[in-house]
Amino acid sequence: MIELSNVKKVYNLGKIQVDALKGVSLKIDKGEYVAIVGPSGSGKSTLMNIIGLLDKPTSGSYKLNGTEVSTLSDDQLAYLRNRQIGFVFQSFNLLSKLNALANVELPMLYAKIPSKERRQRALRALEIVGLSERIHHKPNELSGGQQQRVAIARAIVMNPSFLLADEPTGNLDTASSIEIMKIFYQLNESGTTIVMVTHEQDIANHAKRIVRLRDGNIIEDTLVPNRITY
Ligand code: ATP
Ligand code: MG
Repeated sequence: MIELSNVKKVYNLGKIQVDALKGVSLKIDKGEYVAIVGPSGSGKSTLMNIIGLLDKPTSGSYKLNGTEVSTLSDDQLAYLRNRQIGFVFQSFNLLSKLNALANVELPMLYAKIPSKERRQRALRALEIVGLSERIHHKPNELSGGQQQRVAIARAIVMNPSFLLADEPTGNLDTASSIEIMKIFYQLNESGTTIVMVTHEQDIANHAKRIVRLRDGNIIEDTLVPNRITY
């Protein structure tokens, strides 16, 4: 469970101070599927980075599965991030010199999982995203949608409890976006909690719940009445 209470984030740039989050309280239970929406600069990525343990709140409390994250060391945070959280970004963030299989194996390499198991699990993850035929392709030999599917395979290969996606369809055409939404739907149905940032209403309507940010505050938190399912 994700539990933020009165989380503030201030960025200090010399004399300029940006209040990116102004006191966000948000609870996300296991199995939820949440879309974070709001204008550019409203704090969506800042919030995702905090939820994903990539950044720390300036003040306030963040408990992940009951543990207050501010009490954890950097090593403990890295360990938790590797095992509990999968990330998908708008720009895919794949390593260009590695093929799809090697990219997906990376998080398991960091986790010191034996090579045979790494291979098996990477193949399975690539199968889930429908890329069994492309395992030896490097990122520049794949379409945008396929690259994003490799990134999803990499994000789920450690069986994370939480999948965090920041504009996962931002660089994709409609058909590829739908493929990604189908994969997210299946992952959520099988128990993965998903938090996804998007500026597209059609994409947000795949979630069960929409949280709207403006100027660093949550201004709306509603269930999606007729969400899109597959
Ligand atoms: P977008 O839709 O454009 O991605 P966003 O909602 O994700 O926007 P954030 O990236 O969270 O917005 O930024 C929130 C505010 O914090 C913005 O005003 C931004 O300029 C500022 N900001 C973000 N990251 C930093 C940083 N590393 N240093 C200083 N200011 C930052
Ligand atoms: Mg952003």
